[in-house]
Amino acid sequence: MLSKFDYVKPKTLEEAVDFLGNHPGTRVLAGGTDLMVLLRRNLLITDHILDIKGIEGLDRLEYKKGKGLYIGAAVLVNEIYEFPMIRKKYRALYQAAGALASHQLRNRATLVGNICNASPGADLSTPLLVYNAKVHIQGPEGKRVLEIEDFFTGVKKTALKKAEIVIGVSLPEVKEGDSSYFKKQSRVKGHDLATVGISIRRTPEKETLVSMAAIAPTPIRLRELEKELKNREFNEETATWLKDEIKNHVKPISDVRASMEYRFLASGALAKKIMMVMMEEGVE
Ligand SMILES: Cc1cc2nc3c(=O)[nH]c(=O)nc-3n(C[C@H](O)[C@H](O)[C@H](O)COP(=O)(O)OP(=O)(O)OC[C@H]3O[C@@H](n4cnc5c(N)ncnc54)[C@H](O)[C@@H]3O)c2cc1C
Repeated sequence: MLSKFDYVKPKTLEEAVDFLGNHPGTRVLAGGTDLMVLLRRNLLITDHILDIKGIEGLDRLEYKKGKGLYIGAAVLVNEIYEFPMIRKKYRALYQAAGALASHQLRNRATLVGNICNASPGADLSTPLLVYNAKVHIQGPEGKRVLEIEDFFTGVKKTALKKAEIVIGVSLPEVKEGDSSYFKKQSRVKGHDLATVGISIRRTPEKETLVSMAAIAPTPIRLRELEKELKNREFNEETATWLKDEIKNHVKPISDVRASMEYRFLASGALAKKIMMVMMEEGVE
């Protein structure tokens, strides 16, 4: 049975931030696909739930040439999946959105909820990491912007301070010829968190950016590996090298979803597969 709580649905950000400041312990509700599970199981007890879906402007999903992409905190995962410019310019994000749970769930879940929940295996985290996304935050002190890499601080922990709300996420513009790919391994197709998730991005300057989920306490960029990839072409030799090398850059745990050994193997296999697919598409 659900425990009792008050439900508030403010119309403005100011109202929301004021309420959060005056009612410590309030939980923010977006799609509720993480939050409601905890409430139903009484794993979370709170006196107040603050629904952000009615706040003006949080449903903004916009691409501006030269500026990039903006995704508001109330934008649904299905809206991201169906937005043509995301499919065209930020493919790993499009793929990750399509891999999150089921169609029904994606019609409730938000990208911002996915990162605020801060699961180590969050599907939408790795595309945001390779695109150097920025997290836009509103709090009692005003607005601030954080690099996505600094947002995740631990298992289910973020850099959000008291009474702060994430209002959106932005991704910089990408040049013609920029390409990326997302893959995930899970026990059940759909409806399940990743046992390993990975995004790889290749820029026209031949920079390679790699990020992974479910192999550390937070989703991470593999910066040392990226340095080693700097002077390598995308070819079969590099893909085979990557399959073995990636194991030196991850520290997976064993848990209910997969053993450490399985995660090592899956990391290498997925990374190689992605590089081979991108190579076949003409990425060098
Ligand atoms: C059956 C099932 C399958 C799932 N499968 C997957 C999967 O395959 N991949 C995956 O990654 N996830 C999966 N999930 C988890 C979940 O659906 C996603 O994490 C989803 O994106 C969460 O978004 P939401 O809008 O529903 O968040 P909510 O549940 O509303 O919120 C999640 C957390 O973030 C906080 N929060 C939300 N918005 C804000 C904000 N703007 N500012 C500050 N804090 C905020 C909330 O207080 C809460 O702590 C699954 C969940 C279920 C129930």
